[in-house]
Amino acid sequence: MTIAVENPATGRIIGTVPDLDATAVADAARRARAAQPAWQSLGYDGRAAVLRRMQRWIVDHADTVVATISAETGKAYEDALLAEVNYGAAAFGFWAKQAPRYLAETKVRSSQPLVAGKRLVQRYRPVGLVGVIGPWNYPLTNSFGDCIPALAAGNAVLLKPSEVTPLTSLLLAQGLAECGLPDGVFGVVTGRGETGAALVDEVDMIMFTGSTATGRRVAARAAERLIPASLELGGKDPMIVLADADLERAATHAAYYAMFNCGQTCISIERCYVEEPVYADFVDLVTAKVNALRQGVPAGPGSVDLGSLTFPPQVDVVDRHVSEALAAGARALTGGVRPEREGHWYPPTVLVDVDHSMTIMREETFGPTLPIMAVPDADEAVRLANDSAYGLCASVFGRDLARAEDVARRLEAGAVTVNDAVVNYTALELPMGGAKPASGIGRRHGKDGITKYCRQQSLLVSRWHLRRDVHTYPYRAGRTRLLRSLLALLNRGRRRS
Ligand code: NDP
Repeated sequence: MTIAVENPATGRIIGTVPDLDATAVADAARRARAAQPAWQSLGYDGRAAVLRRMQRWIVDHADTVVATISAETGKAYEDALLAEVNYGAAAFGFWAKQAPRYLAETKVRSSQPLVAGKRLVQRYRPVGLVGVIGPWNYPLTNSFGDCIPALAAGNAVLLKPSEVTPLTSLLLAQGLAECGLPDGVFGVVTGRGETGAALVDEVDMIMFTGSTATGRRVAARAAERLIPASLELGGKDPMIVLADADLERAATHAAYYAMFNCGQTCISIERCYVEEPVYADFVDLVTAKVNALRQGVPAGPGSVDLGSLTFPPQVDVVDRHVSEALAAGARALTGGVRPEREGHWYPPTVLVDVDHSMTIMREETFGPTLPIMAVPDADEAVRLANDSAYGLCASVFGRDLARAEDVARRLEAGAVTVNDAVVNYTALELPMGGAKPASGIGRRHGKDGITKYCRQQSLLVSRWHLRRDVHTYPYRAGRTRLLRSLLALLNRGRRRS
C-alpha cells in the first residue's frame, strides 16, 4: 500500500511513500533498539560529530531542502528557508553543543544524617527508543526538529511524519546517513494515523505535535502503556495592542505573524485586541499591508509572499470560520472569499466587527486570517485574551515597557512576547510549550527539551562507612533513645534557623 504525496499549490502528485502497518513499525522498532546502545556509547563528542556534519549538510543542501519542503507544503520559499532550514541547521549545532551541558551529572548535597559523607549524584540516561509524531505545517522544524535533541541524548528515534508531508523527513534521513549516523539509529515510518498509533505502542517515550483531539488519543494510549508523552498542540494566540504602541511596528507584526506560512503556525497571531483610541488607525495600517501581499504558486526567492494551504481539509475549516463570522455580522476588509482554482487556497483575510461568540475567535483557524476587536482598556484585553481553552503564546505591543510587561505577565500563555511575536521560538535556550491543557503538556527547547528524552537516575555511593550502620538491626532501646534525641535536635535546629 502506498500514499500519494500532492503539491497542494498545484494539485500535482509529486511522489509516493509506503503506508506502513503495525508489523512494519514493530520491525523498524526492533532495528532501532538493536542500533541504540552503540549510538549511546559513542558519547556526546562522538554523537556531536555526526550532528555537526548534519548542520553543514543542511546548509550545503539548502536549495534541495527548501524545494522539497515547498513542493509538499505549498509554502513560500522564504517561509521554508527562514522557519525551517534556518531552524534545522541551528538546532543541530545547538543540541550538539548543549546536550552535554543540559545532561551533565550534578552533585547533590543533603542534610540527612543517614547519607552524611556519601556521594549523591543526579544523572540522565537516554530512554532508549523515542517516537516522534509530526504534523504537516513544518515538516522540518516541528516534526524532524524534535528528533534532534532525542538523538543528541543518545536515543534511537523513529519519526512518523504527517501522511501529507513525508518527503522532507525521508530526504533528511538520507542526509543523516550521509553524515555517518549508524544504520538503524534513525528511521522514518511513513503512513497514516494508524501508523502513528502503532508507533506509540512500540516506543519508550512519545513526542507528538498536532491537533488537540489526536494529542488526547496519543496521551491516552501512552498512559495505558505508562510511557511519558510530550504534547505540543493547538494555539489561538492573542495579540494585544496598547494605545501607546508603535502602530507601524505592531501592524507590520500583525500582518506578518498572522499570515506567514499561510497562517499555519501553532504560534501565529490568531486574534487581535486593540485599545479603542488607536483601533481605527491600526486596522487601516494592517489592512493596507495585508492587501499588498502577493499569493501564488511559489517559484523561488521573492516570487510570492504567501503560498497555498498545505492540508486540503484545512481550507474547509478556514472557510467555515470566516463564513460563520460574516453571517454573524463580521466584515472582511480584505479576502474572505474562497477562490476557485487548482490546489488548496484561501486568501489573506482581515476581519472586523468580531466577538467571542464566533468560532473564529475561539477555535484554532490555522489559516491566513486576522480578526481584530476593539477593547475599552487593557484589563478587557487581558480578560478576552485569557478567555480561551488554549494558551500557547501571546504578544503585547506598547511603548511603556513596564506597562506592556505587566500586561504580558497577566496572560495565561506558555510564552509571551513584548513588542515582538513568534521569534521566541528561535531561541532554543527558551522553553516552549502550552500553559493550558488544550495547548499541550511538556516543553520543547531549553533543558526540559532534552531531559524529557531521558530517564533520571539518582546515584548514591558510600565511600567510607562503618561495618554496621547505627540504625540497622538489631534494634536496641539505648540506640533508639540516642537516635530519638538526635532526631529532636536536628528538627529543633531547623525550626530555629
Ligand atoms: P493531527 O493531530 O490529526 O495529526 C498530527 C499527526 O498525528 C500526523 O502525523 C497524523 O498522521 C498523526 N495521527 C493521526 N491520528 C493518530 C493516532 N490515532 N495516533 C497517532 N498519531 C496519529 O492533525 P491534522 O493533521 O489532522 O490537523 C488538524 C488540526 O490540528 C489543524 O487544523 C490544526 O488546527 C492542528 N494542528 C496543529 C499543529 C501544531 O503545530 N500544534 C500542527 C498541525 C495541525 P496523518 O497526518 O497521517 O493523519
